[in-house]
Parts: sequence; structure tokens; C-alpha cells
Amino acid sequence: MPYEGAEVMSEAAELNARLRDAEPQAILRAAIERFGDKVALVSSFGAESAVLLHMAAQIDPNITVLFLDTGMLFGQTLDYRKQLAARLGLTDVRDLRPQFQDLAVHDPSADLWKSDTNACCNIRKVLPLDRALAGIEGWITGRKRFHGGDRLRLQVVEQGEHQVKFNPLANWSKAQIEAYAAEHDLPAHPLVAFGYPSIGCWPCTQPVQDGEDVRAGRWAGSQKTECGIHTPRAEPPIEVGGDI
Ligand code: SF4
Repeated sequence: MPYEGAEVMSEAAELNARLRDAEPQAILRAAIERFGDKVALVSSFGAESAVLLHMAAQIDPNITVLFLDTGMLFGQTLDYRKQLAARLGLTDVRDLRPQFQDLAVHDPSADLWKSDTNACCNIRKVLPLDRALAGIEGWITGRKRFHGGDRLRLQVVEQGEHQVKFNPLANWSKAQIEAYAAEHDLPAHPLVAFGYPSIGCWPCTQPVQDGEDVRAGRWAGSQKTECGIHTPRAEPPIEVGGDI
């Protein structure tokens, strides 16, 4: 039986009531213990990712980590993903890439981001992740409330469509993230030093000025603030590609 609907909602509510004031490590441990090999941590290997990845590796270095390699990432991110995974001893980092057919039909010139960022994110992020999450019942994210926007209301545990979603760092401040990284001597993403506090694809990421929101450099100048992987799928995604 698929895990969805009322069953997900009721378990998410019960877990949130129990874990909403817990430390991130306790939340991670609860997710891993509850869902076992049906839990996955989705990481961008971005500006703050080392903290959650380090915590997870301390509990279970064999945890499944899903990394969306959109084909549009900075070279520094790809290098960082390899170096950080090796440093933390993570054994199961999976690189998720867009389907060739989707790119050939919808983005043959690799410039869809210029005309339709939502469609571009759909084929490069949403669809690859949806495919990888088939069979996964517990989804661990790195989102925090201090990122602002819709994330201001982020729960520690929330209901996804087919997963319970755990946000172990939801309650943490930027200062707590930085203190943890310093305490454990975690390497920073190389672009942080160049003014990038949030890092996605190169066409859609800019450095920010002092005092701006952490995510102000993402899709700057447009209304878009999220790539869509955390947005409820009200409509079926555009019909692209085949099965994997
Ligand atoms: Fe495309 Fe930009 Fe979305 Fe990356 S962030 S998938 S380049 S629209």
C-alpha cells in the first residue's frame, strides 16, 4: 500500500508535536529510526549543507543522500559535493540528473531558464527528485525558518504528499549554524567567501549585499522564490520523458 494521504498527515502531526522543540540530532535520529532504509536526506551541497550532512553522517554514514545535479550548477558545487561527501564518510550520495528526453524535447539549447524558470526547474529538479523519492517515506530537508518567505512558517515535521518531511534545522538561527560549522571545522562552500549565502544553479544565483535576505540572490528580480520541489503538486507535472 502506498504511504500517503491521511496516514502521512496523522503521523507527521504526531511527530511534529513530539519533536518540534527537539535538537536537530534528535530529529534526525527519530527520522532514521522510524523510516530506516526508506528515509533520504535531500541536499544541495550548498552554503549551509555541511552542518546537516555532518550530523547525519554521525548517526548513519550510510544514509541515502539525494543531490540534484541539474546540469546548471557551479563547478565549485560539484567539487564541494565530492570533497565533502568523502570528508564526512557518506557512502550513499546519489546524483540525480535530468532525463535526456526531457532536455532534448524541452530544453535542447540549455537556455529554458531564460524564458520559463518554472519549466526549467520542473525538468531539472522536480521530476528527477520525484522519481528518486518513489518508495521513500521519510524526507529530510535542510530548510530553516530564518531563510524567510514561506519558510517563516516551517514546521519541524510536516506532511508531504507521499512522505513525512523532517526539517531538523527549522528552529536554528544562522549564528547556530555557523557555530556548529566552526566547532566541527566543517569546510565552507567556496562561493560563500564571494558573497553567496545561498547557492543554486549559476544562471539563477547571485551574490547578495550586506543586510539582504539569505535567499535574495536566488532568481533575483523575479517573483520566484522556490524551485518547486517543496510545492504541493496541485497539477500533474508537464508530460515529459519516460520512466526510469
Ligand atoms: Fe533552471 Fe534556474 Fe531552476 Fe536551475 S534554478 S533548474 S537553471 S530555472
